[in-house]
Amino acid sequence: MAARDYYNILGVERSASADEVKKAYRKLARRWHPDHNGTDEAAGRFKDIAEAYRVLSDAERRARYDRLGPLYTEDGRPPRPEEVNEVVGTMLGNLFRWRSAERGEDLRYTISVTLEDVATGGEREIHVPRRIRCRTCTGAGAETNARARCDVCAGSGKATGSRLFRTSCYHCSGRGWVPTAPCPACRGEGRVSLEDVLRVKVPAGVGTGQKLKLAAKGNAPRGEGAEGDLFVIVNVADHALFRRRGDDVVIDLPVTFSELALGGELVVPTLEGSTAIRIPAGSPPGKVLRLSGRGLPALGGGARGDLHFQLALEVPEGLDPSMRAGLSGWAATLPVGAHPRRATFDRAVEARK
Ligand SMILES: [Zn+2]
Ligand SMILES: [Zn+2]
Repeated sequence: MAARDYYNILGVERSASADEVKKAYRKLARRWHPDHNGTDEAAGRFKDIAEAYRVLSDAERRARYDRLGPLYTEDGRPPRPEEVNEVVGTMLGNLFRWRSAERGEDLRYTISVTLEDVATGGEREIHVPRRIRCRTCTGAGAETNARARCDVCAGSGKATGSRLFRTSCYHCSGRGWVPTAPCPACRGEGRVSLEDVLRVKVPAGVGTGQKLKLAAKGNAPRGEGAEGDLFVIVNVADHALFRRRGDDVVIDLPVTFSELALGGELVVPTLEGSTAIRIPAGSPPGKVLRLSGRGLPALGGGARGDLHFQLALEVPEGLDPSMRAGLSGWAATLPVGAHPRRATFDRAVEARK
């Protein structure tokens, strides 16, 4: 398949004579021949030029190419349906001038935030390795004093040949000029690598895995296209005290038996600092105390979640003999009614005998 416009590659019009085709080929082949020009670019260009010349220098092939355009095949076989589809798509794109300029790459960057950050939201400074347009040559790859007019298109940047193919000159990519020396700052690439300092807005209520898009903060393209985007991926770090459950936050609060039995005030942490909560006397283990509206904000606004304190009984460890004696002596003083559920259970067991 002829993916390219051979006339444009040789820089000649469709009406060019065999002689003009030959002249154009000789000039370009000399310029791009790998013997004279050792760059990677030259190898590719030379191949394209040779292919274009093979077709346009042969009257029979050229006639077939003129008739079939992009559907031309070297061996004369009919194009396959998928090839026809592809060619039609490309031609339509060219007709409507869909930008074929390559866009820079999108980038990803992960940030770790704490639950406290999720509660308040805020800005974060990040240092992202990325490629930006070279400032010395404004991305063109050569400084203004190192540019020569493109002699193939005479500086117009316009394509020769059919409009169904490319819309810009093959040799200067439509710029109208070619570099005579690469820009020293970017070595001709038009972009330079750096660690860019950016600010990202972390919205309150954000969750792990969420993507924050920074438009045009990805890599700059090699040519004239647009910058890629930067996607900042959020990771909410595990917290030593807080557990997230949607917009609610749960704290496992270790309490002693006497705190549960007698009740009292405890100083507890919150996302914003600390506060005191009342444990009612006679609270069973596992009871949940709730501070309404002290959880996380909903992403995009709305009511805040709640802060839950789940009372977890901690049984004392490491009792010495005198503590054990004291404890069992005290337990023996309790009436049966002090543990009503145990009493019910014991009665049920007794009844089965
Ligand atoms: Zn040109
Ligand atoms: Zn540069």
